[in-house]
Amino acid sequence: MRVAIAGGGLAGLSCAKYLVDAGHTPIVFERSAVFGGLVAAWQDKDGAWIETGLHAFFGAYPNMLQLMGELNILDRLQWKRHALIFNQPEKPGVLSWFDVPDIPAPFNVIVSILRNNDMLTWEQKVRFAWGLIPAIIRGQKYVEDMDKYSLLAWLEQQGIDERVNSDIFIAASKALTFINPEDVSATIPLTAINRFLKERYGSKIAFLDGAPPERLCQPIMDYVIERGGEFHSNAALKEIVLNGDGSVQAFRIRGYDSQPEREITADAYVSAMSVDALKLLLPERWKELPNFQMLEGLEGVPVINVQIWFDQKLPTVDHLLFSRSNLLSVYADMSTTCKEYEDPNRSMLELVLAPAEDWIGRSNDDIIQATLAELTKLFPDHLPEPVKVLKTAVVKTPRSVYKATPGRQQFRPTQATVIPNFFLAGSYTYQEYLGSMEGAVLSGKLTAQAITNAKLDVPESLPSTATLVDAATV
Ligand SMILES: Cc1cc2nc3c(=O)[nH]c(=O)nc-3n(C[C@H](O)[C@H](O)[C@H](O)COP(=O)(O)OP(=O)(O)OC[C@H]3O[C@@H](n4cnc5c(N)ncnc54)[C@H](O)[C@@H]3O)c2cc1C
Repeated sequence: MRVAIAGGGLAGLSCAKYLVDAGHTPIVFERSAVFGGLVAAWQDKDGAWIETGLHAFFGAYPNMLQLMGELNILDRLQWKRHALIFNQPEKPGVLSWFDVPDIPAPFNVIVSILRNNDMLTWEQKVRFAWGLIPAIIRGQKYVEDMDKYSLLAWLEQQGIDERVNSDIFIAASKALTFINPEDVSATIPLTAINRFLKERYGSKIAFLDGAPPERLCQPIMDYVIERGGEFHSNAALKEIVLNGDGSVQAFRIRGYDSQPEREITADAYVSAMSVDALKLLLPERWKELPNFQMLEGLEGVPVINVQIWFDQKLPTVDHLLFSRSNLLSVYADMSTTCKEYEDPNRSMLELVLAPAEDWIGRSNDDIIQATLAELTKLFPDHLPEPVKVLKTAVVKTPRSVYKATPGRQQFRPTQATVIPNFFLAGSYTYQEYLGSMEGAVLSGKLTAQAITNAKLDVPESLPSTATLVDAATV
């Protein structure tokens, strides 16, 4: 089958990969000049990579690891010491390590919490562990049910100390979803905790050894091209053209490769665009269908990625750090953590600014000044002097992953839709991982499976217009 895919982020690329594996021919149309979507990056005039986001991989990313294994690129993941590391605002410049010993889960995580005496008292640890018991015993169903509560409300209900929230969960919530515990659905951190408690290396962190478009996206594309697939950049989907029965007749694609705008026909069509982009392109006739109406409950959350190049090395570690600052979420010294960005003499900090609602409309200068002010607390002996800033980059994403506030789970659509020849891929679609790289890769795989199982060559499987109209009134 020929499958047209709009959107060349990780979900679109993964969908293309698993479609060629199943013997189909995908053609991917990407709006931007670069593939990768939220993992896209490009080089500045000095050849330095500017990234859309600082990206960390976890041991609990089975689909990402499987994909990289199938492409023979697993050695591009640089695994770090098994630990989670937090800054301590009350002790500027001092890091607090949750070192995870190499023993079976969940004992490894429990020991790492019990051994850390910087952040929590024994009483707080015991209450925290006690509060987590329902999630451990009752599993994913309980975790999904907790979507009705914010993380903060859930912590209060479990009697978990406010200190656990301020010490650990604000940082975790900002890192996972770019929003604070009072806004985030309890399902999100509980999902992550559940994985970490089940898998021995689930919380182990890795960095890619270079820029994602070259080191991760390109191998997926090469694999697909070798098997007959196609990729077109600067080729935005402009309109989903419908047949009389409401199914897709064609994708109207903006002119690319010096060709005029044109309609592309295929046996199946996939939106691997972000949910916000899809909502803008939904045909009028589809808007009332339950599958698409539910998308109104989802929208992307703003986030900002900041990179700062310094003239000297800062005292950082080869790892991801949770800043525990109001302004910032996680950060890393990429001159140490990432092989391609390695520099023995100068640090390049990459930092995620979240929540970003109040900052997304501010100037890059304001953002850099505020970030540097925060960094003086993290590196009190080195900033603002004697270390100097060489250059900076700010990438604002006003609508990134879906905003995971309470009650969102019910709005996440499945990959197959009520339109038999139209499918959805994207980390916002329903899959057991969060709005993450793992979620994007898994969603693409599920979409390829849904297409393969859809038996689209059987014409009578298309519903009549009447069926679609009926569905709209449900
Ligand atoms: C700052 C930041 C940090 C992050 N950190 C992590 C992390 O540490 N770990 C982790 O696992 N995840 C992280 N993520 C999340 C992760 O990047 C995303 O969940 C994942 O990449 C989403 O992939 P996707 O394919 O679902 O969507 P997207 O990447 O949004 O892809 C959608 C694609 O559709 C394209 N498109 C839109 N409109 C059109 C159109 N009309 N026609 C054609 N194409 C179109 C877009 O250009 C884009 O390429 C981070 C994200 C950000 C922004």
